Amino acid sequence: MFYKSTRNSDVKVTSAQAVAQGISEDGGLFVPSEIPQITLEEIRELGGKSYAERAFYVFSKYLTDYTEAEIRYCVEGAYNTKNFDTENIAELAHLFDGTYILELWHGPTCAFKDMALQILPYLLTTAAKKIDLDKKIVILVATSGDTGKAALEGFKDVPGTEILVFYPDNGVSAMQKKQMTTQEGANVGVCAIKGNFDDAQNGVKAIFTDKEIAEKLSENGMMFSSANSINWGRLAPQIIYYVSSYAQLLRDGEIQEGEKINIVVPTGNFGNILAGYYAKHMGVPVNKLICASNSNNVLTDFINTGVYDRNRRFYATISPSMDILISSNLERLLYHICGENDAQIREWFGKLAAEGRYEVSDEVKAVLSDEFYAGCCTDEETKAVIKEYFDKYSYTCDTHTAVAVKVYEDYVKATGDKTKTVIASTASPYKFSGSVLSALGEDCGCDEFALVDELAKTSGMTVPASLAALKDKEIRFTEVIEKSEMKDFVFRALNVK
Ligand SMILES: *Cc1c(COP(=O)(O)O)cnc(C)c1O
Repeated sequence: MFYKSTRNSDVKVTSAQAVAQGISEDGGLFVPSEIPQITLEEIRELGGKSYAERAFYVFSKYLTDYTEAEIRYCVEGAYNTKNFDTENIAELAHLFDGTYILELWHGPTCAFKDMALQILPYLLTTAAKKIDLDKKIVILVATSGDTGKAALEGFKDVPGTEILVFYPDNGVSAMQKKQMTTQEGANVGVCAIKGNFDDAQNGVKAIFTDKEIAEKLSENGMMFSSANSINWGRLAPQIIYYVSSYAQLLRDGEIQEGEKINIVVPTGNFGNILAGYYAKHMGVPVNKLICASNSNNVLTDFINTGVYDRNRRFYATISPSMDILISSNLERLLYHICGENDAQIREWFGKLAAEGRYEVSDEVKAVLSDEFYAGCCTDEETKAVIKEYFDKYSYTCDTHTAVAVKVYEDYVKATGDKTKTVIASTASPYKFSGSVLSALGEDCGCDEFALVDELAKTSGMTVPASLAALKDKEIRFTEVIEKSEMKDFVFRALNVK
């Protein structure tokens, strides 16, 4: 197996090269040349294994140029109880009959990004050795809040790497900001920009694809890579928890072999739900992939009409990690469903860059509505659902997960579909204590740590140790820059003249 670029099907690189490079030189994203298959029998066998073993099995199908020993080293380093507060790594909670919450936030930063970012440094440094890279890898990250911290935590003090994170100054929660600005490690840098997440992401993409900057870095013995979900090394680990969930439900007798399930995903950059798409096309029996958005509902409209239009108001919501109008990973999906037509992708994404809008063909629209259901909800609806589920099921959802729950409720009302369903839960409610408490009618209007204590009292859930420890940490990073100054910041941080 090899990897192609969505903007040039003739590109042919190994998985190690794709992971090390992050993004193709033509600006396209790397995708596998074919989607490897998994049989129901293989999935059943995975049910008897640990999460790390399940991960090993699935990775072996995608990272075909890594040796068994290399993959083992990666999965064992990442998926253990030193990094995650549960042996299952991805916990599957029963909400009510046939509805399960896949808790992806038991890692060190309490968001689902840890599922991939705990292993990415292993995948990346292993890849660098495999391809004899003699350069220092500089990870550039644009974050809407959770990726930044998860990447910093994954890469801190990893030899041969340096990491720089940009976040929107007014676009992250108080807890997220505290997590990033107090980050420890000798190879880390954090900077706020005046702008939103899309500005940060565009800035990072522009730096990545700037030949002059790349040459300058190269002269200084460095190269860029990405820890955003444009990197295949972020996507592949996310496929695993969908395969793993199915194996788990089967093992626990919750579903019959071959029975289809729905997967609901609170969506921003389309990485998490795309991993569900890959799992489905590997052979995991999936009925609908349900794409849930907040008021930034560009994906809802796209899936329902085939028109992608980012020319709309941007909302700062209580689910900030989904406040995105340009969903990068859609490019991978469209590449697959339009028959790997790279010219078509160049046309659509050229239009997106120039006009902020494109419309897909009728054939693609038909595939979209067959595979996906899309819906959105407002902050008020999100809060109402948090309260409803707390009262009814004693389950405390974070704001992002609540968006998924609400859209799933709407889906069931609209379709009457009784298929068993896994809802991806992407953050611990403690990361968004203020909004969650306000939804529960308990907002004390106090600082983020008092809020955490208050939420602990209300919900009875244990406070994650990593969040509790933040209180006494020193703030290390305070810089705020214009979005036009990102390049200068990078040069300064890396000591490149
Ligand atoms: C990143 C994030 C999302 C969105 O995931 P995508 O893969 O970008 O679609 C949703 N919820 C939380 C809490 C996140 O951190």
